[in-house]
Amino acid sequence: MAVPKSKISKSRRNMRRAHHAVKSGPYSECPNCGELKRPHHVCAHCGHYDGREVVNPEAA
Ligand SMILES: [Zn+2]
Repeated sequence: MAVPKSKISKSRRNMRRAHHAVKSGPYSECPNCGELKRPHHVCAHCGHYDGREVVNPEAA
């Protein structure tokens, strides 16, 4: 089994983890109401998808 030759310092460990932050994913504009929505998802604001109302935003 491969064994590390020397301990990774806190500095090097933290430098490696500097890229691990979770970024917000891709968002697109709803063509119906203009709110930001996730692609391939029903708009949470107006309930539209593919040019028609799929869910009622008041009932949901
Ligand atoms: Zn919308």
